[in-house]
Amino acid sequence: EFIQKYANHPTYIPPRGPELHAKNWQAEAALRMFLNNLTDEVAEAPADLVVYGGTGQAARTPEDARKIIEVLLELEEDESLLVQSGKPVGKVRTHAEAPRVLIANSNLVPHWATWEYFNDLRKRGLIMYGQMTAGSWIYIGSQGILQGTYETFAACGDKYFKGDLRHKLLVTGGLGGMGGAQPLAATMAGATFLGVDVDPARIQKRLDTRYIDKMTHDYEEAKAWVLEAQKTGQALSVGLVGDIGDVLGKLIEDNITPDILTDQTSAHDPLNGYVPNGLTLEQAKELRHQDPTKYKELSLKSMARHVGFMLELQQRGSKTFDYGNNLREFAQQGGEANAFNIPGFVPEYIRPLFCEGKGPFRWAALSGDPEDIRVTDEALKELFPENTHMIKWLDEAHEKVAFQGLPCRICWLGMGEREKAGLLFNQLVREGKVKAPIVIGRDHLDCGSVASPYRETEGMKDGSDAISDWPLLNLMANTAGGATWVSFHHGGGVGIGYSQHAGMVILADGTERADRCLRRVLYNDPALGIFRHADAGYETAQENAREFGLEL
Ligand code: NAD
Repeated sequence: EFIQKYANHPTYIPPRGPELHAKNWQAEAALRMFLNNLTDEVAEAPADLVVYGGTGQAARTPEDARKIIEVLLELEEDESLLVQSGKPVGKVRTHAEAPRVLIANSNLVPHWATWEYFNDLRKRGLIMYGQMTAGSWIYIGSQGILQGTYETFAACGDKYFKGDLRHKLLVTGGLGGMGGAQPLAATMAGATFLGVDVDPARIQKRLDTRYIDKMTHDYEEAKAWVLEAQKTGQALSVGLVGDIGDVLGKLIEDNITPDILTDQTSAHDPLNGYVPNGLTLEQAKELRHQDPTKYKELSLKSMARHVGFMLELQQRGSKTFDYGNNLREFAQQGGEANAFNIPGFVPEYIRPLFCEGKGPFRWAALSGDPEDIRVTDEALKELFPENTHMIKWLDEAHEKVAFQGLPCRICWLGMGEREKAGLLFNQLVREGKVKAPIVIGRDHLDCGSVASPYRETEGMKDGSDAISDWPLLNLMANTAGGATWVSFHHGGGVGIGYSQHAGMVILADGTERADRCLRRVLYNDPALGIFRHADAGYETAQENAREFGLEL
């Protein structure tokens, strides 16, 4: 009955309201968030169980999805489900304060950690690509990346444009699951925006969810719109259907130099993500199956051309940065020797926040009622009245962000703040101020949970970029602390071979048990970020450690 109603492949719907379907709220929370990841409004391709980020899946096959649901419906508070790359493989005996689900996705012994090896295993049904929050069931649609993108664009504005992005043109590629947050983040930060995607359906999705203002297939029309908006200082966002390389080439020909230039095409996956220049979507699909080697070759060459244009625009004055999709590495493999002259966004803009234990803290209202998010927003504003930056963000998000799936909110919070926020949410649930429990999680792109030398750990002060002990320590600390589900993934963001990272989600169901778990997990998790950066020699992290009494 439950499967018929909520998980009739390919239609997945998270239950809403205060009623339990599972035996306890911990399992119910995992169940609802799993279904939320796959629901139409949230997932990029529910029929393939693809949530976002190229081929990032929530479960390996529809049968595995069904089995996960069946097990969660029956799961007791002293049991934990084991998920191996999207397939439920067993239950272990645990206890009420242990995670209900333990997830490992896409992990390979380093010597074998290549896309070729991975894709072969995937074809044989043995493994699944979990991206970051797809396989760990805490993807919340484009809002998830919205604030991070907003913070990044705003930081770029602070660094190079005296904090004012009006009359500034920001150009980028890729308007998919994550990249689709760019237009709204740019306009919220005050810029004029031009985004290019080969797939019109992706841009249409951004129009439907109000993340972008306008769409066209015509370069000249897009150009006229954005130049006019830039002139008048209008924060307008335009989606142009096309190949990003072609469009950058045209901008160069027309002598138009964007003020800010970046990219979020799915470059991390040269076979199942990036679409080579000159191919239609149909042709790309066909070639992918018929001749994957040729496809990859074309993909790498196109990325080299694409990055060549980015470098030219960088020379002409565009503030250019890599946005965490491993474009530089594959462009280099495709023949663009100078690809790494483009800096990564983490060392450029985000690392100072990581040193404060800050990162993409997020929560979802399991009731399904948007009013519950409004209540949490207001409660946070009262809790942190001095945090004007956060208050501005919450007000803007309330006004401009359309929810996808279960109502949720993202807000970068750091050490100290996360613990206070978690306990506050638990109190709201306990006092009946919200209608059902609240789930709290974060992206794996966070201060202490990732080893990713071309992204989160690029250019670490002590050269420790590739050491992945840190995400493992993060996973263990969150498991020991009692998160509600935990995960360890390989290859998220930048692709197989290039990253390892851990995720955690924790439930606020109003109980004292939740208070204890929240106090531990929401202290330990950001503390790991401070430990990691303090250990690498960042002085602000060392100062923060002292301020928060962390024992280094
Ligand atoms: P996605 O697969 O949902 O979207 C990628 C988009 O790129 C698609 O819409 C596709 O049509 C488009 N595209 C592919 N080739 C193109 C080309 N040649 N020209 C124009 N458009 C093209 O992926 P996503 O979830 O949006 O993620 C985008 C990338 O960003 C991925 O590589 C992902 O790993 C990375 N990522 C970055 C962050 C971050 O914080 N910066 C976080 C998560 C993921």
